Amino acid sequence: MLQLCHEAGQAVVPRAGMTGLVGGTLVGPSEIALSLERMNRIEEIDTESQTMTVQAGVPLQAIQEAAEAHGLLFALDLGARGSATIGGNIATNAGGNKVLRYGMTRDLVLGLEVVLANGEVISSLFKILKNNTGLDIKQLFIGTEGTLGVVTRAILRLHPGPRTRQTVLAAFPDFSSVATVLQRVRAGSGGTLSSFEIMWRDYYLLLTAPGRRPAPLSQTHPFYALIECEGSTDAADDSGFQMILQSCLEENLIADAVLAQSETERASLWRIRDDVHYLKTLNPLFVFDISLPLPAMERYVEGLRATLAERWQLPTVIAYGHLGDGNLHLAISCGDTSNRHDIEHIVYEPLKALRGSVSAEHGIGLDKKTYLEFTRTPQEIAVMRAVKRALDPSGILNPGKIL
Ligand SMILES: Cc1cc2nc3c(=O)[nH]c(=O)nc-3n(C[C@H](O)[C@H](O)[C@H](O)COP(=O)(O)OP(=O)(O)OC[C@H]3O[C@@H](n4cnc5c(N)ncnc54)[C@H](O)[C@@H]3O)c2cc1C
Repeated sequence: MLQLCHEAGQAVVPRAGMTGLVGGTLVGPSEIALSLERMNRIEEIDTESQTMTVQAGVPLQAIQEAAEAHGLLFALDLGARGSATIGGNIATNAGGNKVLRYGMTRDLVLGLEVVLANGEVISSLFKILKNNTGLDIKQLFIGTEGTLGVVTRAILRLHPGPRTRQTVLAAFPDFSSVATVLQRVRAGSGGTLSSFEIMWRDYYLLLTAPGRRPAPLSQTHPFYALIECEGSTDAADDSGFQMILQSCLEENLIADAVLAQSETERASLWRIRDDVHYLKTLNPLFVFDISLPLPAMERYVEGLRATLAERWQLPTVIAYGHLGDGNLHLAISCGDTSNRHDIEHIVYEPLKALRGSVSAEHGIGLDKKTYLEFTRTPQEIAVMRAVKRALDPSGILNPGKIL
């Protein structure tokens, strides 16, 4: 298909689960969409190498379940797991709930098959972890949102499946206590900490409003976090984690906490973090996905509230995110949609000085193009343009996205 499109000078937009959040799959009037949804086979699970070979259109959840059936773990996890595909995850270098322990998608891909804009197939299908033989070609296509090639196949890195899971929802008296508890659990849980999801009170209030999710803890605390450790050696892992939490409770670093006693309770706690669709009850709404150094995070959010309040009456700022990764999600509503550009500037401008990122995990697509230069230098952008020109000289692949 790409060879034909290349010959005809036809622009192509790769599309998969269409759960991307930055307009990366939008198709212009003279462009065509290339769906990967029928490339949906899991081709091999190699339990010895701990790898899985998949076609690009396999939904993330199907990969997770196939790994689990073999006592293994595919460590990428995010709320859109049922619809998002591995090709889309690779193209966006998706992050999600377990980055703290296992890294982003690029850390979970060992090999890739990609079709270039001219139809040439690049096979870099390795199962090996170590391969220092020059440029790591697969990384060019991970996180570049279908602008350099179409991912058709991948070899994924699996991990041993966890034997135990400890999931806790904790409430905190202040931000510095949240940061201290993160440090302590990280240092003292023997590398088993896999998620540390922070929620400011406004987020918790929204999700636990009447008729939504039940509130396991009182709604009066300023901060909450969903903390999860995944262990491989049963009791030893669990008791270490619980001892840390106990001492944090005794020192009032944690104000209150609830520990999931079953898989049902665990799922219920996770829905407080995952059911982000309740944000849509705020209308009009602008959502952001930024990252910044953890020590600057609380001051940044307070500064944002103050700046917005100078311009608009009673702005709503809902903050939550993956604390261990310095990744903050923001949902902001200031009354009408005409102020989008102003709000974006208020959110992104301070990130320049903080050396943060305008996109932590969702990508740039069309929506964030204007702000790429807030995070990347002109020299970096020039390199990106040069690579694009080299791999897609006639610019037919996902035109206008990122650059
Ligand atoms: C409820 C919800 C929760 C989410 N949570 C997270 C989260 O925690 N962390 C996170 O990082 N993201 C999250 N996302 C966004 C995330 O980017 C997507 O869910 C996912 O990675 C995209 O996969 P997809 O199959 O839907 O791709 P699409 O949306 O179809 O495409 C996304 C981009 O990839 C390109 N593309 C798709 N397939 C290919 C291919 N085979 N080859 C080349 N390019 C391709 C498209 O052109 C587009 O630019 C969330 C989204 C939702 C709706």
